[in-house]
Amino acid sequence: MLEDIDRILISRETIARRVREIAQQITHDLCLEEEGPPAELTLVPILTGSLIFVADLIRELPLKLQLNLVSISSYSGTKATSRGAAVEQSLTKLPESMAGTHVLVIDDILDSGNTLRAAIVALHHRQPASIRTCVLLRKQRPEAMAFPVDYVCFDIPDVFVVGYGLDYNGYYRNLPDIVTLRPEVFRRR
Ligand code: 5GP
Ligand code: MG
Repeated sequence: MLEDIDRILISRETIARRVREIAQQITHDLCLEEEGPPAELTLVPILTGSLIFVADLIRELPLKLQLNLVSISSYSGTKATSRGAAVEQSLTKLPESMAGTHVLVIDDILDSGNTLRAAIVALHHRQPASIRTCVLLRKQRPEAMAFPVDYVCFDIPDVFVVGYGLDYNGYYRNLPDIVTLRPEVFRRR
């Protein structure tokens, strides 16, 4: 697995530092708006890519919160891009009403914005007190940069990355750094 890595784009140390920083900012903003910690806070991580990010993030949030995992797929397993793909929605386990709760949607990477858009639409119907969005990565391409998002850990070049929860064909999620893969990896199938 390690021999498939081309380049480390963001190291585990840098990720850890930035996750702590973003958590502080989120805590600060939420407490400011609510004049104290929000009574009801629900994090909505989009599976599977945000798994590791959210695990680290919640341990830096000193707030009373619940997790409501959802899953949305915008690209099929063998493709290294989500561009132009239809969002196949499979939002699960969201309560019918989320009135009174503040929601923070969490995704691994903002690329076309289709995934986040689908999540926001579904959440809007449930009328929460507020909806905020947080992504680990944002690709520096026009669609992503134009998509409104509240918290971005890192802006990255428009390249395909894996690691720290992000996969290629289901693999590489367990790499602790965010990396690019060697070109021959994509030629293997
Ligand atoms: P969007 O819906 O914004 O186009 O894409 C977001 C989803 O596409 C992410 O949640 C992720 O699953 C997938 N994706 C987009 N770019 C990448 C990438 O560079 N690497 C990986 N592993 N997944 C990506
Ligand atoms: Mg994803």
